[in-house]
Amino acid sequence: MIPGQFSYHAPATLPQAIALLGEHGYDAKILSGGQSLIPLMRFRLAQPAHLVDINRIDGLAYVREEDGALRIGALAREADLDAEPLVHERYPLLADAIAVIADPLVRNLATVCGNVAHADPANDHPAVMLAYRAEVVAEGPSGRRVIPIDDFFVDTFVTALEPNEVLVELRIPAPKPGSGGAYQKLERKVGDYAIAGVAAQIVVGADGLISEAGVALTNVGPMPIRASEAEESLTGRHPNEKTFADAARLASDAADPVTDLRGPADYKRAVTRTLTARALQRAAERALS
Ligand SMILES: Cc1cc2nc3c(=O)[nH]c(=O)nc-3n(C[C@H](O)[C@H](O)[C@H](O)COP(=O)(O)OP(=O)(O)OC[C@H]3O[C@@H](n4cnc5c(N)ncnc54)[C@H](O)[C@@H]3O)c2cc1C
Repeated sequence: MIPGQFSYHAPATLPQAIALLGEHGYDAKILSGGQSLIPLMRFRLAQPAHLVDINRIDGLAYVREEDGALRIGALAREADLDAEPLVHERYPLLADAIAVIADPLVRNLATVCGNVAHADPANDHPAVMLAYRAEVVAEGPSGRRVIPIDDFFVDTFVTALEPNEVLVELRIPAPKPGSGGAYQKLERKVGDYAIAGVAAQIVVGADGLISEAGVALTNVGPMPIRASEAEESLTGRHPNEKTFADAARLASDAADPVTDLRGPADYKRAVTRTLTARALQRAAERALS
C-alpha cells in the first residue's frame, strides 16, 4: 500500500526541527532512517499529518568516544557503526547486535537512535542500551536533557521523549578494565526480528569476581526488559558455568513473552535461558581475554 497524505518538512537545523515538532505536536513524526516509520505508514498503522525529516541537519552523523562515553549521534547509521573499528574493539556487545539487525540494505539507512526512539520491544538496541546502562540525550525548545535509559522506555512504542523533543545522542559508558559484553539472538531466518534476544555486559575485577553486570532481554515482553535479579545474582561471583546457569534461570523468569507466530511463550522462555547463559559465557571470554 502507499501511505496516506502528509506534509513533508526538511528542516536544515535542529532548532527548526524542534519548532516544527512544537507547532504540529502529536500530528508530527520525525523521519530518520525511515526503516520502521515508512513500513508502518505504508500499512496505514501510522498516519502522521506531518513528517519532519531530520536527514538534512548537519553534525548529527557522528560516532566518537569523548568524555568517558561512546557518543552516537542521531544520524549515525547502523552501517556507520559497523565500519568503525572502535565499536568492534571496545563495544563488542553493540557490534554483535548490529550484525544481526535486518540486512545490509536496511542497515545502510537505519539509525541506532531511531531504533531506540521507536521503542519497539522487538528491536535489538533497546536491550543493548539497558545492558550498557546508556544515557539518552534529548533536545527540545528549552535545551538538552539527559535521560537514564531505565527511565526512557515507558510502554510499547512509548518513550519519555516529549512530542517536541529529538533524540540527539546516545551515550554508552566507556568500558572499564575487565569489561566484556555479547549479544545473542535467535531468529527464524536471517534478517528477522528476534524470537528472543539477550544483551549481557559484565566487568570482572582484579580479584576474579564479577563486579558489575547488565542483562537485558529483547522481544519477550511488551517492553525491553532489564533482568535485575539475574544481574544481582552475578555480582560478587566467579564467572563460571554455575554462575551463568543461575543467572540464566532468573533471566528467563523475568521474561514475559506471548505465544505468537514466533513460537509458544514457554519456548521463548526456554530460549531466553539458553541465550542468557551463552551471552554471559561469551561476555566473560571477552572480559578475560
Ligand atoms: C526488513 C526490516 C527488518 C528489520 N529487522 C530489524 C531487526 O532485526 N532488529 C531491529 O532492531 N530492527 C529491525 N528493523 C528496524 C530498523 O532497525 C529500523 O530502522 C529502526 O527500528 C528505526 O530506525 P530508523 O532510523 O529507520 O527510524 P525511523 O523509521 O525513521 O523512525 C522510527 C520511529 O522513531 C522516531 N524517531 C526516529 N529518529 C528519532 C530521533 N532522532 N528522535 C526522536 N524520534 C525519532 C520516528 O518518529 C518514528 O516514530 C528492521 C526493519 C526492516 C525494514
